[in-house]
Amino acid sequence: MGDGVDQPAAKAALLKAYPGLFTISGNVLTWTDGTTMVWNDDKARDADALLESPDIEDMFRYVYPRAAEGALVPAEDFDPGRIRNEPFFEKLYGASAAEVGKHIANVKWLPKLGEKTVQVTRIFGINDRLGKVSAALEAMPAELSRYGLKPGGGFVWRPIAGTDRLSVHSFGAAFDINVGFSDYWYNNRNKTNPKAHIPFKNRIPLEIVELFEKNGFIWGGRWYHYDTMHFEYRPELLLYKESG
Ligand SMILES: [Zn+2]
Repeated sequence: MGDGVDQPAAKAALLKAYPGLFTISGNVLTWTDGTTMVWNDDKARDADALLESPDIEDMFRYVYPRAAEGALVPAEDFDPGRIRNEPFFEKLYGASAAEVGKHIANVKWLPKLGEKTVQVTRIFGINDRLGKVSAALEAMPAELSRYGLKPGGGFVWRPIAGTDRLSVHSFGAAFDINVGFSDYWYNNRNKTNPKAHIPFKNRIPLEIVELFEKNGFIWGGRWYHYDTMHFEYRPELLLYKESG
């Protein structure tokens, strides 16, 4: 209680985002194979603990602002989507490189503009969703489509820089649109004072963010700990709306 998450709305969003895989009854999430997970352990967590060891319910702690809300500078520690319960994602996509790898597909990214091959998972049709983003981006004027010309890639089994937590790239559910227009908080942080305010930077147009959101992806440019070339498949955060 008291963490601001609208519990029924959050549960409904998670069930709708990943249909048929689990049920949630009270505080227990039960997968179809019988595995159970705790929905909400009610532990108080500060911003660091939310990143390190969130329960499933904590993933809804910050409400993701869509591209339609315009250009925003995220408040300190506001990281909607960066809070991820790792066991939950391992259950969705696989718990090892080999397991995730069984579901990886090649996507032809911007075939009319030079075509790069990007690898993402087939699970939830993420490969087709990325294909739709590609088709829509390719149809945009060159001053927008050029943002897709140097993609940084999809599936890579790796931890997040400086942590032992898995990146969503490990699950084949994330895509970096352009290494040439990337702004990353880690490179812009104050290296001698980790508590100093991190200045926000972004060069990715919101028209592009909107294309990804239409296909179920959220954008790392909405985070205080921003990663502006990064998109990841998180339909639950697009479906969740805080009530009241
Ligand atoms: Zn990324």
